[in-house]
Amino acid sequence: MNMAHDPEPTWAEPSWVEVYSAANAIEAQMLVGLLQANGLQAGLRGLGMGGAIGEVPIDALATPIYAPPEQKARAHDIIMRYEASSETPWTCPHCQEENGGQFEFCWQCNAPNSFS
Ligand SMILES: [Zn+2]
Repeated sequence: MNMAHDPEPTWAEPSWVEVYSAANAIEAQMLVGLLQANGLQAGLRGLGMGGAIGEVPIDALATPIYAPPEQKARAHDIIMRYEASSETPWTCPHCQEENGGQFEFCWQCNAPNSFS
């Protein structure tokens, strides 16, 4: 067996404040990574899993993201910019197909998005 382990989540400090509520735990982890890549601190709290494992799909649970209060505005700004850019569609330069902003490659002809 050589299963890849999920990275340990980063846990929020008690003094941190909620900056955003991600749609699910997977998006939350990704956004924490995004904030950390931008030089901010960010983390999660307990995912509210007490007894719920197996009953509620983890990817259906809204998951708040926390950051230090003094970084809240910047963290929010980064997430908003990310959300906006991920929803901006782009037109494939090769086949003119319109693709969702979250895709890096044209779904029809597999050409890379050269505008990003
Ligand atoms: Zn294309």
